[in-house]
Amino acid sequence: MEILEICNLTKIYDDKETLIKAVDNVSLKVKEGDFIAVVGPSGQGKSTLLHLLSGLDRPNQGKVYINGEDIYKLNEKKLTEFRRKNIGFVYQFYNLIPVLTVKENIILPALLENNRYDKRYFNKLINILNLKERLNHLPNEISGGQQQRAAIGRALINKPKILFLDEPTGNLDSKSKQSVINLLKYYNQKYNQTIIMVTHDMQVAKKAKRIIFFEDGKIKRRKSAGK
Ligand code: ADP
Repeated sequence: MEILEICNLTKIYDDKETLIKAVDNVSLKVKEGDFIAVVGPSGQGKSTLLHLLSGLDRPNQGKVYINGEDIYKLNEKKLTEFRRKNIGFVYQFYNLIPVLTVKENIILPALLENNRYDKRYFNKLINILNLKERLNHLPNEISGGQQQRAAIGRALINKPKILFLDEPTGNLDSKSKQSVINLLKYYNQKYNQTIIMVTHDMQVAKKAKRIIFFEDGKIKRRKSAGK
């Protein structure tokens, strides 16, 4: 079974004078363990697509199935629960909670879900993220790359079926960019984590298994990357 299936997805924004078709009748199937980079110039609907796939926004038309669940059939409360269990989302600007430490930020979704967190998994995760020495720091006391790794940790703590990232390296210097991309590649290979990442950076996109070129709200071209 596909982990993600998108059927005829359309999102239209009403911009007073004009209607903007940000996502235009898109269909796609994604298997477990895939690592997809969605690339294209800005303003083409990539972020809108990602928000629709991860349940952050609702389409005008079409369906999104995650692990067989028709996510837009769920009411708001059920969708929030479904997202917490099954979907990890990482923003370009990290969106960490500034008054919580790195550790508190990472374990928060687990506490919300189960009132506890799996210490063994947490220790494994922070080793992979290379954040062991930074757990008691606040977000503004660590570098951009470390903040992004913490945001990825927070997105992975509940072992989501699928991880979405919106320009995860867009705000990072080249060294931090490398460490984030290596981390995603490792996690994908070692844990078969399904990843869908929006980026405008071809260097980053080439690290994925597949590249989807997105333009004008549509998939223009697909190719294997696999490097
Ligand atoms: P990308 O991620 O490729 O830069 P976006 O998905 O952000 O593209 O935007 C696609 C189009 O939809 C753009 O024309 C943008 O201005 C428009 N758009 C995005 N979000 C909104 C919104 N909330 N309201 C109105 N128009 C929007």
